[in-house]
Amino acid sequence: MILTSLMRIYLTRSLKPFEFKNTYSHILNYKNEPDLGLYVHIPFCRSLCSFCPYCKVMYDEDLAQRYKTALLGEIELVGSELKEKKVVTGLYFGGGTPALMADSLKEIIDCLKKYFIIQEGIGVELHPDDISQSTLELLKKAGVTMVSIGVQSFDKQCLSALGRKGTDFLEKLEMVSGAGFEVIDVDLIFAIPNQTEEILLKDVETAFSNGATQVSTYPFIDFTFAHNAYKPLSEKEKKKMLNAISDYCKKTGRDRTAVWTFAKKKTKKYSSVTRDNFLGFGVSATTLLREEFKINTFSIDAYMDRISKNQLPTALTLSFTLRQRALYYLFWNIYCLQINPDKFKKIIGYPLSKLYGFELWLSERLGLLKKNGCYHVTDKGAYYYHYVEQTYTTAYIDKMWNIMRTTAFPDKIVLK
Ligand code: SF4
Repeated sequence: MILTSLMRIYLTRSLKPFEFKNTYSHILNYKNEPDLGLYVHIPFCRSLCSFCPYCKVMYDEDLAQRYKTALLGEIELVGSELKEKKVVTGLYFGGGTPALMADSLKEIIDCLKKYFIIQEGIGVELHPDDISQSTLELLKKAGVTMVSIGVQSFDKQCLSALGRKGTDFLEKLEMVSGAGFEVIDVDLIFAIPNQTEEILLKDVETAFSNGATQVSTYPFIDFTFAHNAYKPLSEKEKKKMLNAISDYCKKTGRDRTAVWTFAKKKTKKYSSVTRDNFLGFGVSATTLLREEFKINTFSIDAYMDRISKNQLPTALTLSFTLRQRALYYLFWNIYCLQINPDKFKKIIGYPLSKLYGFELWLSERLGLLKKNGCYHVTDKGAYYYHYVEQTYTTAYIDKMWNIMRTTAFPDKIVLK
């Protein structure tokens, strides 16, 4: 914790922590934001997995219908600010299990298309249990081009350590492969108790050889509010496992596209977590703009209530200082293994070399970055960045989500 604070103070050149306040703009200033993405959160699941930190509740048909009405209301509220349609990069449905509202996805997408021109496709998270021919047809009809399947592990014992049951994954993957999506991502978790490198690499291979165009791996993180029966393997084991995946993918001709993501060559790359700017709709959804970061309430009732009064469901807002915004940008772009100085200037409005010239020079000398027009994160850089990514996820996200889960509108949250 002290280390994360010192790092933040040094990199933002300020003692000012990340302070999220309950005051919020009633109008979002996104009209001129470049490279804007869209995110929609569907918070319903058929069963709740013990390891999962996301904002979700058990599916209820009536509640889902009322939630959809509110979601459409939020899209109207935000979109109707525009005088003409705005070009956006992509649209991503996360959750929860968006497929539980597969019948409604087209209506939600059509509502967004009244205001936005979606250029880079539409992605949806899928739980293996919800994959069926009829759901896939609904997704295709709605215009979905990318799916991300939360397999977590093909190994029965690992799944059971996560509190999950295995279904006929290979049959489901075959079904998805036959449906003609541009990207098929399979999510896998590593550092599960009793998981060995052999089991993990077998999981990676099983995903790729059964239709996955990319594999997103995530270290098992024991969030303080999760109900995990077992603890993750040690940090040392985690790093060893990530290196094993990286070596295996290199040997078998797959590209590393982010610290924890690997993809088949010549396939479209897709990431649900990294966007330069984005608008988020739904409970717990976040919005990132040039000057602010806002987070919607996690309470479905409070969300629907705000929308019924024609008010944004914002719970907290962070007004960025220049260096805080730059740091946020760098956090996710380093995760994606590349920093493009031109893009940095376009998004942040200030030259990268002026803000972080010394740190870039030092990182090059230490072999963490290589400059070739852009800055590329080396294998050594990715090895250390895994630790940074995990540390901040644990320190910041755990604290914030822990409060947001129990308080619809907290006064403020300070991340040091
Ligand atoms: S892992 Fe997926 S299915 Fe399980 S609780 Fe989380 S969102 Fe729901």
